[in-house]
Amino acid sequence: MRLSAVVVSIAAVAFADEAQKCNTPPDECARTIRKMLAGKPYLGVELAELLPGLAVKTVVPDSPADHGDVKPGDRVIAVNGHRTTEASIKDFKTILAEVGRTHRHIWMIVNRRGALKKIDVMMEPLTKAQIERIVAQHLAEAHSIASAIPDSRQ
Ligand SMILES: [Zn+2]
Repeated sequence: MRLSAVVVSIAAVAFADEAQKCNTPPDECARTIRKMLAGKPYLGVELAELLPGLAVKTVVPDSPADHGDVKPGDRVIAVNGHRTTEASIKDFKTILAEVGRTHRHIWMIVNRRGALKKIDVMMEPLTKAQIERIVAQHLAEAHSIASAIPDSRQ
């Protein structure tokens, strides 16, 4: 299974970008995902690579990013003092993971329609319901197991 992909993408992005087939038994996957995600801080944005640089593509409703007033279209100029004007999504995830080891306060400089704006976001741990949705999504996408849990992303 490609768990590292799942974990980094939820830390930064909330949901995995693409479906990946997985050969690990589904029960084991579900258990491992729950264990790895419990208490993990997350932000709740999906980013687009502009080559160079990053822009916010979507903000998960009611996520820390949403509460911190991050908006789709924001260009990410810096994150906690790291310049991101040339960064890839992978770089962004690395910065978040590094910050997340010691604290949950993320501050970003974004360019919103030409104006620079500082945004403060407190990353929060995923709720049980969010973790179950990620488990369900993994089972649906990587194991073709349908789930009764409604998909709230729509
Ligand atoms: Zn799996």
